[in-house]
Amino acid sequence: MSIARFWRETPQRYNLGGSKCSQCEAVYFPPRSVCPACAKHRTSLGRMLPFQLSGDGEVYTFTVVHEAAEGFEMQVPYVLAIVRTKEGPMLTGQIVDIEPADVRVGLKVQSTFRKLREEGKAGVIHYGYKFTPRADPGDSARPPAAEASEAEATPGRTGVAA
Ligand SMILES: [Zn+2]
Repeated sequence: MSIARFWRETPQRYNLGGSKCSQCEAVYFPPRSVCPACAKHRTSLGRMLPFQLSGDGEVYTFTVVHEAAEGFEMQVPYVLAIVRTKEGPMLTGQIVDIEPADVRVGLKVQSTFRKLREEGKAGVIHYGYKFTPRADPGDSARPPAAEASEAEATPGRTGVAA
């Protein structure tokens, strides 16, 4: 991903800002300027409203990645999932703070703001959303693993042999 593309996408990556069609109420992320569901009539032009996704959802499908893409070497194995948000849009993201073997379809998750990757020698660090398991109400047996995020954010660990 180029730097320009990264910065253009940053506002959405930061806050999960999508858009909602004021005609049919369909929600989109990333935001769209025209509603595909209403596109036949082109009547949705100018009727898309900003909409804030809650970040709550559940795992729709996932895969455990053992061979990392460049820049992700330090994180393997990791879980890449498609999350169905409660508002409807599907988001692709990493599931963190859980053992890959414990991830399952239907797992309740919430978005969290994390470092995504570093770009080699340049040291450009990309941030964006990931997902963490959401504790069921009344289930206080397993508090979220806060230590993991701190370790992950430690600077100087590039893991890139460039
Ligand atoms: Zn629509």
